[in-house]
Amino acid sequence: YFQQIKQAERLKTTGQLAAAVAHEIRNPLTVVKGFLQFYEQSNEVDTELKKHFHLMVDELNTAEQVISQFLSIAKPAKEKELEPVNIRQVLQSVTDLLHSYGLLHDNQIELQIVEDSYVAANTIEMKQLFINIIKNAIEASNIGDVVVVAASKIKDMVEINIIDYGQGMTEKEIESLGTPFYSLKSKGTGLGMMICFNIAENYKGKISFKSTKGKGTTVTIRFPSLI
Ligand code: ADP
Ligand code: MG
Repeated sequence: YFQQIKQAERLKTTGQLAAAVAHEIRNPLTVVKGFLQFYEQSNEVDTELKKHFHLMVDELNTAEQVISQFLSIAKPAKEKELEPVNIRQVLQSVTDLLHSYGLLHDNQIELQIVEDSYVAANTIEMKQLFINIIKNAIEASNIGDVVVVAASKIKDMVEINIIDYGQGMTEKEIESLGTPFYSLKSKGTGLGMMICFNIAENYKGKISFKSTKGKGTTVTIRFPSLI
């Protein structure tokens, strides 16, 4: 029990720190984006260069989005408004978004959804939750593997399974998930799963893992169903 309290406090401090950092980073980003947009429209810049400016603005938009989501996560749950989130729509848009990311390693994302289901939550956060977990699945996958994203209603719960056939995890590795900055990747932040646990908890969700080293991982996320 003591362990649990310590974990909760650590999460809170990390959240506050993340919010402060995010806030400080957002301002310079906005300035740089403003200049890039100016040059993108300027007559003195040639077309080829303008394409580059456009790409840079796109990337900055992504960075801004990530930061906004970070800030929204740092906010206590009671300040947030609940809305009916259509899980099918969220998974559809997230898999569309990650399609090209998967193609980098020749991974296809296979969506298996037979019915609509709704969860009382926040759409942006739900997207962030699934983006993080599906990204992990792609990053763990071998070249050419498929990643399966399935959702179904089971009694009064909505269950989402994200299945990969990649590197898998040991019991110990599973236990470390959600610890801030825990990452086995050379370019990982080790914040993804912490964010996911946080979001799931906000909406009475539970995340569980079944994994075999060298064989793959199934991440199961369950939320109370709205209807
Ligand atoms: P990051 O992706 O930045 O490393 P995460 O919090 O998202 O941080 O994940 C933490 C670690 O958990 C990863 O570095 C990886 O070792 C492990 N992990 C997460 N998901 C999977 C998965 N589907 N298969 C294997 N390992 C995973
Ligand atoms: Mg990750």
